Amino acid sequence: MKADLAQESITSLKGVGKATAEALQELGISTWEDVLFTFPTRHEDFRLKDLTLTDHNERVTVEGRVESEPTILFMGKKSRLQVKILTGRHLIKAVFFNQPYLKSKLIPGEIVTISGKWDKGRQVIQASNHQMGPRTDTHDFEPVYALRGRVTQKVFRRILAQIFEQVSTQLVDPLPESVREPYRLPELYEALKAIHFPEDEMLTKNARRRFVYEELLQFQLKMQALKKFRKEASVGQTVTYDPLVVNQFVASLPYQLTGAQTRATEEILRDLRAPFQMNRLLQGDVGSGKTVVAAIALVAAFSAGLQGALMAPTEILAEQHANSFFDWLEPFGMKVALLTGSTKTKARRLILEGLASGDIHVVIGTHALIQPDVQFKQLGVVVTDEQHRFGVEQRRVLKTKGLEPDVLFMTATPIPRTLAITAFGEMDVTILDEMPAGRKPIETYWMKEQQVPALLQRLRKELDAGRQAYVICPLIEESDKLELQNVLEIYHQLQQFYEPVFKVDLMHGKLPSDEKDLVMRRFADNESHILVSTTVVEVGVNVPNATFMMIFDAERFGLAQLHQLRGRVGRGEHQSYCVLIADPKTEVGKERMQSMTETTDGFVLAEKDLELRGPGDFFGRKQSGMPEFKIADLVHDYRALQTAREDAEKLVESHHFWHSEEWRWYRGQLEASGIIDGGRID
Ligand code: ADP
Ligand code: MG
Repeated sequence: MKADLAQESITSLKGVGKATAEALQELGISTWEDVLFTFPTRHEDFRLKDLTLTDHNERVTVEGRVESEPTILFMGKKSRLQVKILTGRHLIKAVFFNQPYLKSKLIPGEIVTISGKWDKGRQVIQASNHQMGPRTDTHDFEPVYALRGRVTQKVFRRILAQIFEQVSTQLVDPLPESVREPYRLPELYEALKAIHFPEDEMLTKNARRRFVYEELLQFQLKMQALKKFRKEASVGQTVTYDPLVVNQFVASLPYQLTGAQTRATEEILRDLRAPFQMNRLLQGDVGSGKTVVAAIALVAAFSAGLQGALMAPTEILAEQHANSFFDWLEPFGMKVALLTGSTKTKARRLILEGLASGDIHVVIGTHALIQPDVQFKQLGVVVTDEQHRFGVEQRRVLKTKGLEPDVLFMTATPIPRTLAITAFGEMDVTILDEMPAGRKPIETYWMKEQQVPALLQRLRKELDAGRQAYVICPLIEESDKLELQNVLEIYHQLQQFYEPVFKVDLMHGKLPSDEKDLVMRRFADNESHILVSTTVVEVGVNVPNATFMMIFDAERFGLAQLHQLRGRVGRGEHQSYCVLIADPKTEVGKERMQSMTETTDGFVLAEKDLELRGPGDFFGRKQSGMPEFKIADLVHDYRALQTAREDAEKLVESHHFWHSEEWRWYRGQLEASGIIDGGRID
């Protein structure tokens, strides 16, 4: 479209006065272009349809003859009116709720047009719209826009039609034919026409497909260009690791890598070899075996003469990792150190010296790793575990300690692929979507509060067998006093019930952090047997002997969080159980509990959560980094998003994209958003 016309103000249109213009501006619409690219949220279809071709519960409009006197039933102020209608060869019933006045209007023998939901089994249309007489309205397939205030659907459509008429001959499609053609996407003019002035359902669907793809492609081009430029700008190093050493390490493990672990390893090694900085997110469900993948990366760095660091969010996790890494790495001549807040002064000094001289090859630690006096000789690879627990700033500080080290972020929060691609669009994402063989799936049950006493008896059996248990109470806001009382109450009750035979311990966010570590340690060492806790226990803790988990008020947690919590059990050889105590009031709540009992696949649950709660809510609150789309819907247009991402990845690597005429408009968009600056990086 000619730029001047596109930017033309809506006030230049006939019939758009000051008040209408202001109302439109409130909707974010001020230019002609804004109007043209305000897409309908849905289309309403009032065209006549053959009932034999209509599915159960589908909306339908039929024209027919009234065949009976309407009958009416009153229930208090409510009423239900029913009448027989002959449409084509179908004798059906139409039901009208709360419109008693229709009794005198629906006269046998007369023609009526009704729209509503078709109940195929009972042959009933639940009418939501009707018109006496045969269908006359020609606008029977209409777009519906998300509008407010004085801008009605009618007003908006009139404005649209005016603009469309004037610009139609001047529309230039920015989306190159070379992309439209293979996907059979309609050209801009045709697409705008089909979506705003629909006639044929297929054409309208295709038009939507085009705009969805276009929007996602534009978004992905930004992401991919950003990623490309960051990589090129980073003074990354080529980690020339020794494949023999890496293979030996893998062969020394007591198990075979899963297919997913092998794929992840290959991707990471490829990043290490490449002359740019690795910036990769390794996502894998709890227990999918991320730690060993991180170890392989550190071994590779070592074989290239570089140091490695692994940062964990808590001391206990850092210790657990350190224990595994001592066992794994020392046989390969690697010196491993643990550095946390509680490392004694003298030991700390020695470690700092070792890191500065290069005598220590791998350091595992907490935030203690990012103190200013911690210096490395040559840091090659940095791994951060449970990366969402770290602030961006902390990660940045750690990175600056080396000469642009390669960075691997690990997280056990299964983020639906759709969101991972968008939220982490400028990161590379690897997904471990396969569990090590031989795991016993956790058995999950959903119970009501009344069943708790019986459950406590069942738990005693587990304890008698030497196992341990978590009891989780919701503490959604750490400051919530009432919630804390709740945890304390349950803690005291369990103490009464099980002590002194079994020791019950308490953990919550209000405890000082060294106290938290002590409590965790007692549990890990089997000195306490039941851990009553709020959700602070969620992060990566590994107590394989814990086989039983009870979650109170489970309906108050999101699926992703429930899954994280559940992942604390089922980590050893014994069969594990998770019991959700919940009394959800809503259908969605019930569906959530049901899903938990049906699957232990975190990605399936994450997708389900996304579907039930919507992308905005997925992370608990609106995620600032989440893009908002005008037409694309991350849940339903997931495939399009994937395609757009793949296409964008190829495009930003092609000479053609950066130099050809057909992609000029898109380059302009990148420039406008500050991602490129005359071909150079911003
Ligand atoms: P997470 O991804 O949650 O960090 P871990 O790395 O802690 O998982 O691994 C969970 C458990 O699975 C550990 O006990 C680990 O030794 C074991 N494990 C990892 N990879 C494999 C494998 N390929 N085969 C068998 N067991 C494995
Ligand atoms: Mg882990």
